Amino acid sequence: MKVRAWLGGLAVALVAAGAGVYFFRGEIATRLVERTAQTAMQTSLVEELPDGLHAAFCGTGSPLPDRTRAGPCLAIIAGPHTFVFDAGDGASETLSLMGIQQQNIEALYLTHLHSDHIDGLDTVALQHWASGSARQPLNVVGPTGTARVVGGLNEAYAIDQGYRLTHHGPEVMPPTGAGMRAQEFAVPLNDGEEIELRNADGVRIVAFRVDHAPTDAVGYRVEYAGRSIVISGDTSRSTSLVDSARGADLLVHEAISPRLDAIMHQAAMNSGRENIGAIFHDILDYHTSPEDAGRVAQEAGVDALVLTHFLPQTPIPGLTHTFVQAAKSTYDGPVFAARDGDVISLPRAGGMHRSHHLRF
Ligand SMILES: [Zn+2]
Ligand SMILES: [Zn+2]
Repeated sequence: MKVRAWLGGLAVALVAAGAGVYFFRGEIATRLVERTAQTAMQTSLVEELPDGLHAAFCGTGSPLPDRTRAGPCLAIIAGPHTFVFDAGDGASETLSLMGIQQQNIEALYLTHLHSDHIDGLDTVALQHWASGSARQPLNVVGPTGTARVVGGLNEAYAIDQGYRLTHHGPEVMPPTGAGMRAQEFAVPLNDGEEIELRNADGVRIVAFRVDHAPTDAVGYRVEYAGRSIVISGDTSRSTSLVDSARGADLLVHEAISPRLDAIMHQAAMNSGRENIGAIFHDILDYHTSPEDAGRVAQEAGVDALVLTHFLPQTPIPGLTHTFVQAAKSTYDGPVFAARDGDVISLPRAGGMHRSHHLRF
């Protein structure tokens, strides 16, 4: 009897406690925000990382819907310098969640002008302007056509820029810092040709053509402190990429799974959606299987390979494992499947390590 009464009392207490938590949940959540907001405002990934070259994955998805991955985006942190390569949908939000201060982006490089690589540019430009009262527009460097994209986006956001200037005044939102400024280059015509886009403060960035026809597309090589990262951009298996990736510490390569792509193609055809089926058929021609990405890494003799831009989408965690296994069948070195928030660090002192920085 006593036990039953005790249990009854406990149940009442638990229900009361639960009701208390339920009743005060808004207050509890607000107190939590009070704590985390201060940390978020002070967070700067660049200051936390050791001197060296770092690949920070601010978007590892593709045009296909996947709520776990932003569109293509890779931030390269070279000592105190921040550069971003491509800005797909959700890139700016992921940069913020990683503690990468967008007002400090020195330049945003585009691999090509496919929509999934540029449809987050507008928000990065806004954050570049708003979060640090930038007095210069965001520098956007890319292949021929970049000025047209940038001009169109600047025009699309001109009304918004006017509103923000009126809301906050020119000290907070300097009019000269709004939007983007384009710097175009012609994609090198031949394999083995590189165009040097930056060689200052110990950071060297070159672009080289890759095979993503009919798109004019490039990959990039970034060097700092004796370390190097090569970015494939979107490409089918590319010999120019092998040339430019030779001896790099890290190769960041896109990947499409022919087997998963065939499943999506068949599902579309079975549903009578021939147009979608045709797209899944066509994309195999201008992307790279993980086996071929492994072959590129092996031929170039890079120290490690990281796969990104997963096609099709990978909403089930085990799916990226199939990409890694396939790449390992053709490449002897370590292979990683990038997630949003991952950082692969190449410290000046040597070595390589991975960490995860998706904080809130
Ligand atoms: Zn793409
Ligand atoms: Zn593309």
